[in-house]
Amino acid sequence: MYINGRWIESTEHTIEIINPATGEHVQEVAAGGQKETKETIDAAKQAFKMWKNKTGKERGQYLKEIARLMVEKKDVLAEAITKEMGKPFEDAKREILVAADYTEWYGEEAKRVYGDVIPASVPDKHLMVVRQPVGVTAAITPWNFPVSMITRKIAPALAAGCTVIIKPAPSTPLSAIEVFKCFHEAGLPEGVANLIIGPAEEIGPELTSNKDVRKLTFTGSTNVGKHLMRESATNVKKVSMELGGHAPFLVFEDADIDEAVKGALLTKFKNAGQTCISTNRVYVAESIAEVFQRKLTEKVAELKVGNGMEAGVDVGPLVNEQALEKVQDHVADAIKHGGEVLVGGNTFEKEGLSGNFYQPTVIANANESMKIATEETFGPVLPVFTFTNEDDVIERANHDRYGLAAYCYTKDMSRGYHLMNELEYGIIGINDPGPVAAQAPFGGVKESGVGREGGKHGMDEFVEEKFVSMNVK
Ligand code: ADP
Repeated sequence: MYINGRWIESTEHTIEIINPATGEHVQEVAAGGQKETKETIDAAKQAFKMWKNKTGKERGQYLKEIARLMVEKKDVLAEAITKEMGKPFEDAKREILVAADYTEWYGEEAKRVYGDVIPASVPDKHLMVVRQPVGVTAAITPWNFPVSMITRKIAPALAAGCTVIIKPAPSTPLSAIEVFKCFHEAGLPEGVANLIIGPAEEIGPELTSNKDVRKLTFTGSTNVGKHLMRESATNVKKVSMELGGHAPFLVFEDADIDEAVKGALLTKFKNAGQTCISTNRVYVAESIAEVFQRKLTEKVAELKVGNGMEAGVDVGPLVNEQALEKVQDHVADAIKHGGEVLVGGNTFEKEGLSGNFYQPTVIANANESMKIATEETFGPVLPVFTFTNEDDVIERANHDRYGLAAYCYTKDMSRGYHLMNELEYGIIGINDPGPVAAQAPFGGVKESGVGREGGKHGMDEFVEEKFVSMNVK
């Protein structure tokens, strides 16, 4: 752990890290509980007095140096990710570059936390809005993007002038530790960014009940997000939540089929489907369904599954056994309801691997009675539905609970605008399987969350607006 500028390497409790590709022990790390969490909050509160009064330019310089160090050490950071959560090493390196990009972008944006001057309707009055940091911020992050989820929260928080306590997922603290080494090396003042590792049941309640924590930012499951929102209501913390999703992927008859296949592959099988914006449902126009499915199946069959440290691996293991069981359950249920497995459909056995692998899978004849049609699978399984009518498919694509990301493939841009307006999602990719950028807002509607990360919108989550009315008569 990293508390108040000091490394804490031995405590009464430890957490064991297991490599999901091999089942092997990787390392043990020191873990804290309620007491350490409280100490960390106190340190962050103390540091806030100093950090909020630094200039944006100075805060930005630290962030830019952290970004530089992350790029310099990307191999070390990426190896920690692959060993603790399984994603292919090349993808882990890309994650580091994305994480560094957010850090650099907010390092620049720190200078631009502007306020407003508002014309008054009474003579002699002067109306102003100043934007100030919210205060001590708690950030709870998941295992699927163990580095970029940290910087997407920490970078805007630090840029705005907040101090931060990060609680990473218990299964992925090693990459968080590597990120904090960059913070330390960049000379970030003590108490400004802190890392607490340990069980959620002990750390979570202190973070939510402690009134000195003024902001909670979370990425994870919808159920835990709801719980944290309820707990944060006790002392009315500002919250932002990036929760579950159930992304539809619409392919119209005029789409470039090869591009659509490429997009489906990227949005479903990257990170073994363990991404909140992963495609969960493909809807393809009936007239092109056969050719689309044939091309898709061919490409999926070519994906190389294996240990992420091996060269050329496209799909790594699932994070743990429960994740694998959920995938198996969804596939069995889809078959029971008339689904036809075109490729995959089983666990993946290979000598030397004892991890939680599942074959990349495509299921045809998907229909709304299957669990996979409404529940988040978080695994490498792609059900394909067909449609004949645009309005009908939009209605089917809109989910009653989730609204994070949706993808559409069409060459008709008037249709593109119609889809943009009618799809009830926070992020829409039109002929674009990667609708994510440091300068753009990422976030969902409905039970997919509140608030945005990235861009100037992401900074808003860490500032309060203070209205000042001044009479200067
Ligand atoms: P997943 O199912 O993807 O693991 P979770 O929502 O369970 O997602 O976990 C995301 C993060 O939330 C992790 O850091 C986890 O430790 C943390 N977490 C889970 N339950 C709680 C809780 N009750 N209070 C605080 N943090 C929690």
